[in-house]
Amino acid sequence: MSRYFSSKFDRLTPYTPGEQPSDLSRFVKLNTNESPFPPSEAAMECARGLLRPLNLYSDTTCGDLRRELAAIEHVDPDELIMTNGSDEVLDYAFACFCDRDHPAAFADITYGFYPVFAQRNLVPYTVIPLKDDMTIDPEDYTGIGKTIFIANPNAPTGITLSADALEKIIASNPDNVVVVDEAYADFSGVTCVPLIRKYPNLLVTRTFSKSRSLAGGRLGYGIACKELIRDLETFRYSLNPYNINSMTIAAGIAVLRDEETVRANIAVINANRAYTTEELTKRGFRVLPSGANFVFAMHPDIPGGVLYEKLKDRGILVRHFTAERIREYNRITVGTKEQMDLLLAAVDEIRKEN
Ligand code: PMP
Repeated sequence: MSRYFSSKFDRLTPYTPGEQPSDLSRFVKLNTNESPFPPSEAAMECARGLLRPLNLYSDTTCGDLRRELAAIEHVDPDELIMTNGSDEVLDYAFACFCDRDHPAAFADITYGFYPVFAQRNLVPYTVIPLKDDMTIDPEDYTGIGKTIFIANPNAPTGITLSADALEKIIASNPDNVVVVDEAYADFSGVTCVPLIRKYPNLLVTRTFSKSRSLAGGRLGYGIACKELIRDLETFRYSLNPYNINSMTIAAGIAVLRDEETVRANIAVINANRAYTTEELTKRGFRVLPSGANFVFAMHPDIPGGVLYEKLKDRGILVRHFTAERIREYNRITVGTKEQMDLLLAAVDEIRKEN
């Protein structure tokens, strides 16, 4: 750290992203929960036609994109804010809705960016442990008077909380915003979006990175009542109104016009998730019940870190976390059936060695 780096960031520990190898041909990439399916040719062709000339700045309002997305989400365009990945709207939420009087609260095992966003925004936060079975106890969040962040399905566990349980949490904290991070909700089918008109303190965040195959485009969004969206827009226009570039706007609209492919891909990924869960279970793994496009699995005889390394030696990248409670697990993105068979074959080899 240089002597110029502000001491206000003394305690800032940055997020560690999953590996992004430049030589993709060397790996089966099951480590960062991307879709194994690129956007369709038709969508890419459509995006080329929609591209605004790059000598001009991008549309700060994302007007066309927001209109088409609003129709799909059954909300008004001004109940939506578009951001550079959903990471950006999550960061805005820490900045806009948390402070000393509204400290943040989230689970001990959840998306690793939450504590980073809290630290970056100098926001105090409370960490609430998951139960022994890695589920959230809704009671722990009832009437706690804090700005709550819940990923649903949770990551890296994949476990889904019901919309009813979430509604009780939202209703019992009327003086604080409750953020439901639905990055993976297209794979679980459970969503809180219909609740935004009932609860002025609900912000749902979603992304084009997973089910919509656009992780590299960096496109996410928030859905909330108009007042909350206005607050977030005030913040966005105070930082970078051009947060979404024109290529991504065009790609986003094009992907929305090809919802059929998106729905078909979700069905394939969910079928492959069931297959992977079943096959890993047969091989002695404990696999948590997942509503996402990944599974979280541990083998009683193979330490998590060893499995991670041995899979990597065989060209298969998964995600391993070193936190005490989950270090025996690996998070494995659900890819194509062929990719999952390569994973299972590698697991069989490793089990023989053990
Ligand atoms: N929330 C959760 C739970 C995630 O796992 C991710 C992906 N790393 C994100 C949000 C952010 O994804 P993106 O910025 O690509 O929308």
